[in-house]
Amino acid sequence: MAETLTDDRVNAEIDALHRLAAVVLHEHANHHGLCAVCGCAFPCVRAVLAEPNLAL
Ligand SMILES: [Zn+2]
Repeated sequence: MAETLTDDRVNAEIDALHRLAAVVLHEHANHHGLCAVCGCAFPCVRAVLAEPNLAL
């Protein structure tokens, strides 16, 4: 029998994505116009990539 994704399991995956995105956005914060982690212009690539995951 094929394994099917239950709603609980899908929700858990989305929760994990949300938490990961929140951590990335929290760490890659705007620090006087620069990313606090990368040191490049804010928002950095990591923050831009993580942001859509919070909107799921
Ligand atoms: Zn960054």
